[in-house]
Amino acid sequence: KKRVLSGVQPTGVLHLGNYLGAIRQWVANQESYDNFFCVVDSHAITQPHDPKELSQATYRTAALYLAAGIDPKRSNIFVQSHVSAHSELMHSPPGRRAARLLAPLHRWMLNCATPMGWLEKMIQYKEKSQRAANAKSVSVGLFDYPVLMAADILLYQAQLVPVGDDQRQHLELTRDIARRFNDKYAKKKKRKVFVEPEALIVKSNARVMSLQDGTAKMSKSDANDLSRINLLDSPDEIRRKIKKCKTDSIKGIGYSPDRPEANNLLGIYEAMTGKSKEEVEAEAATWVGWGTFKPLLADALIAHLEPLQARYAELVAEPEYLASVLREGAEAADETASRTLADAKRAMGFTLPG
Ligand code: ATP
Ligand code: MG
Repeated sequence: KKRVLSGVQPTGVLHLGNYLGAIRQWVANQESYDNFFCVVDSHAITQPHDPKELSQATYRTAALYLAAGIDPKRSNIFVQSHVSAHSELMHSPPGRRAARLLAPLHRWMLNCATPMGWLEKMIQYKEKSQRAANAKSVSVGLFDYPVLMAADILLYQAQLVPVGDDQRQHLELTRDIARRFNDKYAKKKKRKVFVEPEALIVKSNARVMSLQDGTAKMSKSDANDLSRINLLDSPDEIRRKIKKCKTDSIKGIGYSPDRPEANNLLGIYEAMTGKSKEEVEAEAATWVGWGTFKPLLADALIAHLEPLQARYAELVAEPEYLASVLREGAEAADETASRTLADAKRAMGFTLPG
């Protein structure tokens, strides 16, 4: 089975974009692959954050993976920072322990194997740093984040990475880093150190747009909560957000290249109802205007999210269960990670402890 790795940053609450662009396909393909789903907490500190909120969001994100349908019997679910932290606590053979402690070194090695020029081209860095209140306070971590992401994908030897469309460029970068490293340090080796991973991107809803701006992607880090539907929003909040969402003043409702808001809302409606584009188009022809469509959309969202929210409520009532899932996931992740680390270290010419 091919290896899959993907993750979401525990910043805020997962939203409809994360669900439709990423998590939905993790669940749908769960049987076909060998899965690692990670809560990428190390990525969540690339922008200003509240420490207390980070730990809560980490557990919330993991619980939402399970609530959305990830089955811990078929997939490994773990927290990114547990893989090296965990190793420091465990009693294990010295060789393996030493290799595990290299997680920060692994990232450093990839930093040194990545040209700055490659990172300067990253669109997400440009966008997020432009949004920062003070350009000078943007962290080195935000700039370096795509290398950290690459380091994780490569650490677990992932062949496939199911992500939303916004991560396409970072996946290309990951492939470039893997290729450069293999070419420079593992050319003569029978086995390459890193696998070049491929992005898996869904055909529809690969980029869910903000409810307040049909040209910007829906994001956890958008300051305006009205811009997104969070997976844990109550029915009232969903109704209010849909009522207030941006629309256009063109007569009738339908898909059109110059109607970004209409396309986005109709795309969400398709996903929530399971109807095809043609079916939605036919239905839309009967709607008088946004006033007819918005309540239908809100109802569809509420109905679709209800079972997920019910499962989530059960999971948060059982914190020990969640902790045990994350412990087992980290152990499985650690196995693969320590092997890759040792290989990468040898390839670069480091000595291994005897
Ligand atoms: P942040 O603003 O903190 O970066 P985010 O909403 O972009 O948060 P991430 O944790 O960066 O979420 O991304 C998690 C996954 O969700 C990735 O696979 C990403 O491609 C996907 N994703 C994020 N936003 C969208 C969106 N609007 N539409 C579809 N997929 C998305
Ligand atoms: Mg993001």
